[in-house]
Amino acid sequence: MLNEFPQIDEQLKVSLKPGRYTHTLGVAYTAAALAMRYGTDVRQAFLAGLLHDCAKDIPDKEAIEICCKNGVSLSDYEIGHPHLIHAKLGAFWAKKRYSVTDADILSAIRWHTTGTTRMSALEQIIFLADYIEPGRREFDGLREARSLAFQDLDQATELVLRQTIGYLKPKYGEAIDENTKTAYAYYKQFFVSGQTD
Ligand code: FE
Ligand code: FE
Repeated sequence: MLNEFPQIDEQLKVSLKPGRYTHTLGVAYTAAALAMRYGTDVRQAFLAGLLHDCAKDIPDKEAIEICCKNGVSLSDYEIGHPHLIHAKLGAFWAKKRYSVTDADILSAIRWHTTGTTRMSALEQIIFLADYIEPGRREFDGLREARSLAFQDLDQATELVLRQTIGYLKPKYGEAIDENTKTAYAYYKQFFVSGQTD
């Protein structure tokens, strides 16, 4: 499927560090596999995966400047944690530099790092594929996340958000991105109360 996007592929190869490019392919193919599993658009999932980190190797200072110049608003939290900026900037970059106009793809890129409430299937697929792609080094909970991702999108999203918060809390305490916290609160409620929206 990569050969359907030769220009994007060429551009990614020169914009991303080699390890990031490999991760990107892992996410694209994992997203495609998840789209097959859930009966959603495989090509769209692949392209969203391909571009999800397209702005990640832009240096922090430059990333903040590009955002300021182009009206991409950043929260104080994002300015303090610039690794988060690549999600917002990535959505902008995918449109501007990679000529993607599909709003669903842009939104999946926008939310791939923190997650958000009420994610679309594509948003969940990219969020999960980023976490479980085959190149990820083993860590506690990865096996379970991989398995669950192919069983139930909402349950897998809840698990990944829970694991992410569990990983970030000892490092940052309460200073975790608000979107991650509200996303977790949102997905958790289904499994605590047993309702499924
Ligand atoms: Fe990312
Ligand atoms: Fe990524």
